[in-house]
Amino acid sequence: MSESRQLTRALDLVRRGRLYPSVILHGGTATARRGAAVELARALLCAREPERRPCGACPHCQRIAWPDGEVERFHPDFGVLGRDLKTVTSAEATREWLRGAQVAPFEARGQVFVVAEAETLSAEAGDALLKAIEEPGLASPRHFFLLAPNRLDLPPTLRSRSMGLYLGAAEPPDEAKLDQAAAGFGGAFDRFLAGGGGAYLLEAAAVLVRAGDFADARAEGGFELAAHAVRAAATDPARPAPVRRRLLALAQAVLEAPPLRLRGISAERILEGLLSEHLAPLAPSAPPKATTSVVRR
Ligand SMILES: [Zn+2]
Repeated sequence: MSESRQLTRALDLVRRGRLYPSVILHGGTATARRGAAVELARALLCAREPERRPCGACPHCQRIAWPDGEVERFHPDFGVLGRDLKTVTSAEATREWLRGAQVAPFEARGQVFVVAEAETLSAEAGDALLKAIEEPGLASPRHFFLLAPNRLDLPPTLRSRSMGLYLGAAEPPDEAKLDQAAAGFGGAFDRFLAGGGGAYLLEAAAVLVRAGDFADARAEGGFELAAHAVRAAATDPARPAPVRRRLLALAQAVLEAPPLRLRGISAERILEGLLSEHLAPLAPSAPPKATTSVVRR
């Protein structure tokens, strides 16, 4: 699987010493989130020159690993907090774990703390964590990674103080569904381009609404599938470049649409609005009317 673009960007921030103290790693599978946390932690603590981080070979890189009980690797400046109760990461466990954050790094130039299932933090545990994140005047850099399937499951206070790093959909979209959505969208869009009128933009939007699942306002999969379908149309070499550029911009806007859905706007309204905003300017100029518009009485 290819590294997500957001992860690449975050690694670049690490190498430039610009990564936020708190990052929410959301989306993707649990394995992908853990892998990304380890990769970023290695990059943060790696002994090599910035552009080579993470090197994977230095004593820091080699010992930073996800604690899964199989590999006996341990780094004193890399801590992972797991869920201690059945469905909750308790305040007690969080406070105990954060004690490690009150001391200076043992070996590396900084420290990395990872909350494995941040969506299970109790409210009190979240507050304790927030205090640690906001603690001023640290002598050495300290980073917190909060892992969760969906960043919206974290308290707003933590979200507002963290950078979000989205690792993509948990499951790759169903290929057949995707092809169908792409074909339906492309067909309606072509009829619009051929002068069929705005009704075909509405039809194109309806295809996307039918293709994705928008029942859960917090799920982002529906918009991802819609963006895939739009991007498929954008990569069709038969379309002229200006059309493809507009489609690509639309695909990007669709990917950024989930917050609108959270404000209670229906997926249908959002997609119709975005399609109209990005694609309506491509409408061919109205053909001369075949019949006179003068109504005789
Ligand atoms: Zn290294």
